[in-house]
Amino acid sequence: MEIVESVQEMQQHMASVRASGKTIAFVPTMGFLHEGHLSLLNEGRHRGDVLVLSIFVNPTQFGQGEDFEDYPRDLKQDCDLAEEAGVDVVFAPSVAAMYPSDYATEVNVSGITSGLCGASRPSHFRGVCTVVTKLFHIVQPHLAVFGAKDFQQLAVIKKMTRDLNLPIEIVGMPIFREQDGLAMSSRNIYLNPQQRHQALALFQAIALARDLVKNRERDSGSIISTVSDYLGAHSLIRIDYVTICHQLTLQPQQQIDSDSVLLLAAFVGQTRLIDNGYLMDLS
Ligand code: AMP
Repeated sequence: MEIVESVQEMQQHMASVRASGKTIAFVPTMGFLHEGHLSLLNEGRHRGDVLVLSIFVNPTQFGQGEDFEDYPRDLKQDCDLAEEAGVDVVFAPSVAAMYPSDYATEVNVSGITSGLCGASRPSHFRGVCTVVTKLFHIVQPHLAVFGAKDFQQLAVIKKMTRDLNLPIEIVGMPIFREQDGLAMSSRNIYLNPQQRHQALALFQAIALARDLVKNRERDSGSIISTVSDYLGAHSLIRIDYVTICHQLTLQPQQQIDSDSVLLLAAFVGQTRLIDNGYLMDLS
């Protein structure tokens, strides 16, 4: 497995891989890998000839006062896990390499980024879209794999890729969870035992909403109110948003149908966690 830090070296290397006719699968991450990331790598390994992982804690997607400095990092452990997962190339650039001092360009997707996480974190998706566009140009993948844990991010990346006619297939993978149901996240490391215990309420709230829908509740307002009450009963949880949206447009829905997704964001102590789930099981 190769580890590349230089943007120029990476771009040249990937251009020659492409020229050799091989399919490049790409998994962009901020590192501190867990099994959720590994599930994306596994998918990428099956879909491509060459598997590329990027590890870059992107400062431009963190707002003021957010956890950029504290975000967990362990490049050595990540590289060990990446090697085991069959990664061919790890791209781990420095912040200075990605954003030189005269850097001036941003990529902004409007509309779909305005609600949900975009409302709570106004510059977040501009940072995400900018870094993903840069990474796409450096890595030149045929396909890129993203997790549905970041449901809005996946929708935004699909929209950006379509709008900019990028010749890249965007593959979405389901949420990988801990055994008890908590969605895996690099940020779970911040949780103390009581917070970890209460964090499970996000998953339980989704299960509760699904039960309501199974029992023929179709009114979003009523479901949102029950879910909010349930989360609110946990002393360490502060709700950021509880919303039911159409899976493609991310527009709020009044009535539940087969496109409905419940999206949650909440602070557990200081740690902001997100989770989501479809509300109708069509199987
Ligand atoms: P991050 O390192 O948190 O920026 O995440 C990198 C990629 O991994 C994103 O596409 C995330 O959606 C995905 N991801 C993070 N956590 C999970 C999870 N629990 N299950 C599936 N994908 C995940």
